[in-house]
Amino acid sequence: MDNHNAVPFVDLLTPHLKLEGEFVEVFRKTLKTGRFIGGPMVEGFEADFAQYCDTRYCVGVGSGTDALRFALIASGINKGDIVLTVPNTFIATTEAITQAGALPDFIDIDEDSYNMDINKLREYLKAQCEIDAKSGHTIHRKSKRRVSAIVPVHLYGQMADMDAILDIAETHKLLVIEDACQAHGAEYYSQKENCWKKAGSMGNAAAFSFYAGKNLGAFGEGGAVTTNDEVVAQKVGMLRDHGQAKKYFHDIEGYNGRLDAIQAGILQIKLRQLTGWNESRRKHADSYNNLLGSVESIILPKASVSTRSVYHLYVVRLKNRDGLLKYFSENNIGAGLHYPVPLHLQKAYLGLGYKEGDFPVSEQVAKVILSLPMHPHLTSGQQEFVAKTFMTYVNPS
Ligand SMILES: *Cc1c(COP(=O)(O)O)cnc(C)c1O
Repeated sequence: MDNHNAVPFVDLLTPHLKLEGEFVEVFRKTLKTGRFIGGPMVEGFEADFAQYCDTRYCVGVGSGTDALRFALIASGINKGDIVLTVPNTFIATTEAITQAGALPDFIDIDEDSYNMDINKLREYLKAQCEIDAKSGHTIHRKSKRRVSAIVPVHLYGQMADMDAILDIAETHKLLVIEDACQAHGAEYYSQKENCWKKAGSMGNAAAFSFYAGKNLGAFGEGGAVTTNDEVVAQKVGMLRDHGQAKKYFHDIEGYNGRLDAIQAGILQIKLRQLTGWNESRRKHADSYNNLLGSVESIILPKASVSTRSVYHLYVVRLKNRDGLLKYFSENNIGAGLHYPVPLHLQKAYLGLGYKEGDFPVSEQVAKVILSLPMHPHLTSGQQEFVAKTFMTYVNPS
């Protein structure tokens, strides 16, 4: 991608060239068997990824967006329901909610974790909703719609506060669909269960993306739903394949949303490296923390003791973010903004009627965040160069 940079934002060459022989074997096997769709390579990866996530089931699909949409539909979201998520995520989260027939509504974030603020979730349910005495459903007072699910996003590789979210979900009869698209292998210490839990194993179902730049990326598009619920797994299996459990017998209308056999084969090989790659990302995050710790005008990522982040992104905050972004670019350092405009202020959602000021933390944070280069194969020299460039910008002598 931008490997001509002194410090590329992501590196999609180094990790792959090292595994070239194994990847070529996947192509050769596919060429010789003609099993392009489904088959043992897809099933093998699904079994491995379910084991990696500590879930009973994994169903490979075409993308993370497919995974979210199918997980929501399969879990039983009804047309017109409200599904709660955060404004500071990739638009795929809300696209999936809308495409599942529901209406997204937002809960602002906690400024330390960048994830859903549990107090604001409680506040929303208390101030804007009531529990229907007969059904026990949570009803949004003004619109009379049922609030039926929460989609917590484990942003930047750090899991949301799942114990609290699951507690709230239980009392309000809400489904929980984890958006784990940035959190392959992330962990959360559950006080309730007294053990570490993997991303994708805590909600009713979870969505993963294997878009090339994610911690586990395909050679193109891919995604997966993980769940412990057999019915949900079966339904996702049908949704990805035109609603058929048996060829040409369509129980429901579905989608064309399968994971290609070649991608599954590639992913199976890369999955074996994921623990090591995530470990490297953590080390690089520690190095950035040390290198940048003395800079007063920036806020570094805050690692909560109850989570183990997999640092999909390493995001700092500083006032003149746009200036630094430009200065980085002049010095051939790749950097990014995740994300510059919160979803409630996107043009696509003008019709939902939100305005500036509705979700102040998301809005403030969006103006000052900056994602530094982060991938498993960063070198200490590259990190030092990023830090030096950063300091020169902040404290020009
Ligand atoms: C990447 C991503 C998605 C969408 O995944 P695709 O595979 O690109 O469809 C959804 N949510 C979040 C938070 C993501 O980062």
